[in-house]
Amino acid sequence: MSKMEVKTSLLDNMIGVGDMVLIEPLSEDTFIENLKKRFDHSEIYTYIGSVVISMNPYKSLPIYTAEKVEEYRNRNFYELSPHIYALADEAYRSLRDQDKDQCILITGESGAGKTEASKFVMSYVAAVCGKGQEVNKVKEQLLQSNPVLEAFGNAKTVRNDNSSRFGKYMDIEFDFKGDPLGGVISNYLLEKSRVVKQPRGERNFHIFYQLLSGASDDTLKKLKLDRDFSKYNYLSLDSATVNGLDDAASFRTVRNAMQIVGFMEDEVQSILELVAAVLKLGNIEFKPESRCNGFDESRIKDKNDLKEMCELLGIEQSVLERAFSFRTVEAKMEKVSTSLNVAQAYYARDALAKNLYSRLFSWLVTRINESIKAQTKTHKKVMGVLDIYGFEIFEDNSFEQFIINYCNEKLQQIFIELTLREEQEEYIREVSNSQYMKTNRKWSSLTNKNGILAMLDEECLRPGTVTDETFLDKLNTVCAEHQHFESRQSKNSKFLTDHSLPHNCFRIQHYAGKVLYRVEGFVDKNNDLLYRDLSQAMYKANHSLIKILFPEGNPAKVNLKRPPTAGFQFRASVGTLMKNLLTKNPNYIRCIKPNDEKAAHIFTDSLVCHQARYLGLMENVRVRRAGYAFRQPYEPCLERYKMLCKQTWPHWKGPARKGVEVLLKNLQVPAEEFAYGRSKIFIRNPRTLFFLEEKRRQC
Ligand code: ADP
Ligand code: MG
Repeated sequence: MSKMEVKTSLLDNMIGVGDMVLIEPLSEDTFIENLKKRFDHSEIYTYIGSVVISMNPYKSLPIYTAEKVEEYRNRNFYELSPHIYALADEAYRSLRDQDKDQCILITGESGAGKTEASKFVMSYVAAVCGKGQEVNKVKEQLLQSNPVLEAFGNAKTVRNDNSSRFGKYMDIEFDFKGDPLGGVISNYLLEKSRVVKQPRGERNFHIFYQLLSGASDDTLKKLKLDRDFSKYNYLSLDSATVNGLDDAASFRTVRNAMQIVGFMEDEVQSILELVAAVLKLGNIEFKPESRCNGFDESRIKDKNDLKEMCELLGIEQSVLERAFSFRTVEAKMEKVSTSLNVAQAYYARDALAKNLYSRLFSWLVTRINESIKAQTKTHKKVMGVLDIYGFEIFEDNSFEQFIINYCNEKLQQIFIELTLREEQEEYIREVSNSQYMKTNRKWSSLTNKNGILAMLDEECLRPGTVTDETFLDKLNTVCAEHQHFESRQSKNSKFLTDHSLPHNCFRIQHYAGKVLYRVEGFVDKNNDLLYRDLSQAMYKANHSLIKILFPEGNPAKVNLKRPPTAGFQFRASVGTLMKNLLTKNPNYIRCIKPNDEKAAHIFTDSLVCHQARYLGLMENVRVRRAGYAFRQPYEPCLERYKMLCKQTWPHWKGPARKGVEVLLKNLQVPAEEFAYGRSKIFIRNPRTLFFLEEKRRQC
């Protein structure tokens, strides 16, 4: 009999249960227990219907080999044991054969395995799609964009030695045959504060260390750099080298990747000059010089770093020196110069470093896109892969966490809406036009015109003195009026009024939990102000790259409006992203990390439980079970159970659907337990499936 068996591995030889939908009884405890059991046996993937839960194994597993790719290729989703390849395969085939654009949404907290998952998906798709020289070149470029962006956008943090400090969405484009044509990358909010300061135990972006460790003596000399990390203020010392990271080798990988992606040698040189300039900039220090009017003016302590930085970027030293000493404010057609004090000079220096680096990063993305974009205008099929920071609740939460959590809130909304929509649509498509489930969920508006970020913008642009405190006052006043903040904030999150809070904080009830935000720095970070004197100094640089990074420094464009605030830009790009995602068929990978020690073999129940809760996984299982818990195409279903009935055994001659009908009637399964779709059978209760399995075992 075994020969004829169609593998339905969700139930066969399975460690624990491969699909959470089939857990009996369902509770948080059984859910976590199942994950744990599977994790202990290195089964890191588990389904909730078509959603893949991925546990970070923190060790390399032999499950991403070419043989595995072959195994999963062109197989039905439920045929083999759960794997990220099954999801990738399903998405790719649906795109290729049914012309449905796909998106793969990967969520989870920092260190949970999102970026690795996105790479597995990309490499799987690359392995199964198209062949040939041209196609291979496209694939290679798409894949090699990863190391480049990781070098500039990732850093070692407490949670993850290779933590992405930016959000990334990549559309991979295919032709009608399913061969890759190219791609487009969008980046979201690089954590630029890291350029000038890193939390204890963390590092700056990888590229700084890679450059200093891996570049030849000759290159370093040209860049006026010293190999010694400790020479640079912007490089933290307590964790300059990371176990298991070979910065020098990574530098070679990155250089190679840049070449494959299509960067010219002189472009690479320009990029490295900018990286070097940021390090030099960090070493410029200021000292006070007392003036007779009692005001302390700032002076540059030692001009050597300034000089070298100016040489690197082709800037006249006196221009930059002046921009670090004065600030020009234009009022009513009149220009007024005021001197900077030491604190302001440091502020200006750091603002310049952050802007230099983050604009370089965005430019890199644009430049990569130029190389990898599809060379044709014909209709393209698209697979989007989203790898974006997960929900963050720290002890101290600031603007960055607010922004990140705002994005996650939106994604969660999309998740709920799209999974429900998908469930309903599949059912309607397959079975009937009747209502699948009574849901009162409205499509909530995805552009949030009146939220806290908008309020912050209003405040930042208001004339007069604007501080974090005035913003908080405003927030408190407006939110007290709207006790329930739902009309202003997204519907899942609420502003919580609580007079026991520290005076400089506000609290939001997110779907994932309550978060206390400290308001300090909100206005500043949102404004993201770079004194115009500095952008003008940069614009004057005799350096092809620097010049285009600071367009607002063009004196002919002094009337150019200030660049939009950080919050506004983020809100707009998240809005575009959400709209884009809503047009695609979603596939979900929910990443979970088993412990905080980055260790293999440790499974901390409470930690996993916490993540499962805020990823809404239990809700996901319930939604799935509330409808039809299990669905399977007729053929494999008949194959598996045909031995339970005389009429279908050993060979059923008619259509598979009819065979399944005969089979179930014969077994006297109550009719309400099933719905017959066009290509699939829908089973309402997992118990029915167990009943069939039990019968099969007895057979
Ligand atoms: P995230 O992007 O969610 O912050 P990463 O994808 O960078 O997390 O994963 C963090 C680290 O965990 C990786 O550098 C790797 O060491 C390990 N890891 C994650 N997923 C896997 C996997 N499937 N197999 C082996 N190691 C993994
Ligand atoms: Mg990541």
